[in-house]
Amino acid sequence: MSGAAKLQQESGSFRVIARGKLNDDRIQGALDLSVSRLRGLRLDAWEQLDDLEALRERAHELRMRVVNDLEGYLAQFTQALEARGGHVHRAATPEEASAIIVRLCQERKATLVAKSKSMATEEIGLNAALEAAGITPVETDLGEYILQLDGTHPVHIIAPAIEKTKEQIAAMFTAIEGREVPAELEALTASARRQLRQVFLDADVGITGCNMAVAETGTITLVTNEGNGRLVSSLPRTHIAVMGLERLVPTLDDLSVILRLLARSATGQRLTSSTTLITGPRRAGELDGPEELHVVVIDNGRTNLLRGRYKEMLACIRCGACLNVCPIFRKTGGAAYGPVYSGPMGAVLVPLYVGLGNAPDLPHASSLCGACTEACPVKIPLHELLLDLRRDMVDEGSAPRWERWAFTAWSFAWSTPLGYRLSTRLARLGQPLGAAAGPGKVWGAGRALPQLARRRYRDRPRG
Ligand code: SF4
Repeated sequence: MSGAAKLQQESGSFRVIARGKLNDDRIQGALDLSVSRLRGLRLDAWEQLDDLEALRERAHELRMRVVNDLEGYLAQFTQALEARGGHVHRAATPEEASAIIVRLCQERKATLVAKSKSMATEEIGLNAALEAAGITPVETDLGEYILQLDGTHPVHIIAPAIEKTKEQIAAMFTAIEGREVPAELEALTASARRQLRQVFLDADVGITGCNMAVAETGTITLVTNEGNGRLVSSLPRTHIAVMGLERLVPTLDDLSVILRLLARSATGQRLTSSTTLITGPRRAGELDGPEELHVVVIDNGRTNLLRGRYKEMLACIRCGACLNVCPIFRKTGGAAYGPVYSGPMGAVLVPLYVGLGNAPDLPHASSLCGACTEACPVKIPLHELLLDLRRDMVDEGSAPRWERWAFTAWSFAWSTPLGYRLSTRLARLGQPLGAAAGPGKVWGAGRALPQLARRRYRDRPRG
């Protein structure tokens, strides 16, 4: 199944998957621990910035400047990178992007590909496409590697294996190595290194994502904490970077604004352990780096967002901060949202990519508390966009029929004083019935519904 089809299919199962996660104490414990930690680290890091609000404003402004002239900045980026020996490929769909990458690998007779973490490659379902062409992709980010062994997909854009415990990972590594690997962080990373070292050395092609690209210089940036991004982008003879077409900043100076916010918002660090800026392939006289650099720029519905009010979503820098503060994500985890993007940013993006009718639960996967908007370093009004999506569902007629009837009846009843009086009386009489059947029963499960007052406020004597 292609990545796009998988995204579409799995994004429609929010309720079913979320229910399973809510009933799993182990996952609840793992989520609580990791997400609270990331949230705390971000808050501490933000507190240390005395110009935080000015920085967020500037980040919003510069990202929207790019979004409002995407083609112009893309042309500038392409020209700058090609002048330094790189190649830029444009792909409208996930299938097209995968086909370009498979072709590049086949032309170089590649059989083994080393990958570093990239949500863009998840989005296009690249691993499945490579495997179908007889090419073995190996994830080298620790979290992604664990998920590849497990046959599952990332549940958090920053910490992809957030739901896995040390014990589960130790059991996997023990099975691979044929010797006991203790469930301790150092032992696990040492084991992963042993398993992956040869992959870095043998890979014919290295595939990475691109956190941000700089239009003025043709530079791509990799922001990682494990150093695997550097190995993947420098040891194999060919480096392919995959990026969404909106991942641009105008200048290196602008990049520094995003980098100050990105690491702090994602992991609470001032800078990640490795921040790699790559401008073209290896040049004459240089000792390392790939002989070729290809950047595959994917659209996958992004340009459709440019015309409407959802274009602000294209300012996202994929920091994950909105996930860590979201009360829904903190309980359901990321798998419920589908195989790539989760939390509030996923709840907005996925329906826009796959169509509202294919992910009808996601705009409702929010309490609309606004914590996501407050946490977003580039000031995307996430909770307002979620409300807009709900409105679109009604306009499109993709809201459930019972919901449309219920709101039509409610609106009709409360448009006249008589209707209002009658409905509020009936509500009290019908409350036990409403809570025992249909959607009321589902909503009321696990909630203590307050009994409606016997006497309405308007009927009470005042004075
Ligand atoms: S929407 Fe904002 S907070 Fe969420 S991942 Fe994107 S940039 Fe970060």
